[in-house]
Amino acid sequence: MVVVGAGPAGCAAGITAARAGARVLVLDRARFPRPKTCGDAISNRAAELVAVLCGVDSVDEALAGVPMTRVDRGVAILPDAGAIERGFGARPGYIVPRLGLDDRLRLALEHAGASLRQGTKVTGLVRERERVVGVTIEGGEVVRGDVVIAADGPGSIAQSALGEPYRRGRHLAVALTAYVEGLRPGPWSDAAEHYFEPGLRAGYGWIFPPVDGLANVGVYQRADRFHAHGRTLKQLFEEFRTAHRDRFADARLCGRTRTWALPLAVPPAPRTVAGLLVAGDAGACVDPLAGEGIWQALHTGVLAGGVAGRGQAHDRAAIAALGRRRLRDIGVPSLLRLGIQDAMDGLIASGLHRRALVRALLRRGYASEALEASKRLG
Ligand SMILES: Cc1cc2nc3c(=O)[nH]c(=O)nc-3n(C[C@H](O)[C@H](O)[C@H](O)COP(=O)(O)OP(=O)(O)OC[C@H]3O[C@@H](n4cnc5c(N)ncnc54)[C@H](O)[C@@H]3O)c2cc1C
Repeated sequence: MVVVGAGPAGCAAGITAARAGARVLVLDRARFPRPKTCGDAISNRAAELVAVLCGVDSVDEALAGVPMTRVDRGVAILPDAGAIERGFGARPGYIVPRLGLDDRLRLALEHAGASLRQGTKVTGLVRERERVVGVTIEGGEVVRGDVVIAADGPGSIAQSALGEPYRRGRHLAVALTAYVEGLRPGPWSDAAEHYFEPGLRAGYGWIFPPVDGLANVGVYQRADRFHAHGRTLKQLFEEFRTAHRDRFADARLCGRTRTWALPLAVPPAPRTVAGLLVAGDAGACVDPLAGEGIWQALHTGVLAGGVAGRGQAHDRAAIAALGRRRLRDIGVPSLLRLGIQDAMDGLIASGLHRRALVRALLRRGYASEALEASKRLG
């Protein structure tokens, strides 16, 4: 089998299939270690899946030697209305720059027995009759496989080959991220901070705890809201920095700001054709509310790699079951969270979030039973 892309989705697919005994070739246009535009926040469920894929017993073992910061709480900060904290308890999250995380997964992929060709750009799918039977790579070489797993991120070769329209509106989000040093500490500096603001409707600004002195900061917004105001992501980021000048006064940008798209897991799911499976961003899996896509990439990679590894990629029942599983684990929760995002958007735009009852509901929703505290800002 051929896997296109060795990011989280491609590595998860390749590892799972190789462990099931399949002959796996993974192609990636990049050379590892390579950076990836990302907030670098790894949820507890993602971290635990990384450990499973690395074949070790704990997240600490999986991430040993990888630059990272453990995060024990998250905080949602509402405009003029206080903050809602959530403790992660015994299952912390992590900030892990993708340069290190993805290389760790790449190593696990090779240990599992998959072959990886780096610096190899895939240019299209090879189709015979109604089936995908391989890929073409830059320079014209054809690589054949009984199944192709497209795990090549947004704008995947699968998308154009299948005639899928480019995602937009409520099906897409956009984000800008930057590394900064010298951030002044705030009340929640050790937490993953998410700022919900009227200028970032259906989105948020983030400040994450630093790793080796560099903090990942950025802005995220759903594309329908983004295109409605006509400002650029750089402008939104400048507004965010200005609004939080108490934190950014001494901050220095390290490297450039980077922007990228996030294909949201809002149904309908991408179509499928025989011989082709999709995983991760290539199959539009990002959670619309949080912008989390790494767990989804790993999970859909494991599911696709499992089907391919068991030799079921041409079995209609297995493909249908895969679709149902994706809908249950990712599609339905994402649809619900899109509704929550719309509700929060309306509440913040109207100022209703300041009402005690609404705040109590938001607190319950964000923090659930793990709620530790709620503070007034300022
Ligand atoms: C600004 C921003 C911030 C984000 N923050 C977070 C966050 O904090 N937490 C979180 O969980 N998610 C976050 N996400 C989402 C997350 O980054 C993605 O959902 C995740 O990386 C998807 O993994 P993937 O393996 O599907 O794709 P990718 O990580 O994009 O990997 C795709 C791989 O395919 C390769 N490739 C692409 N095209 C080709 C080709 N033609 N031929 C060969 N190889 C190819 C690439 O080189 C790459 O290695 C963020 C996204 C953005 C844009």
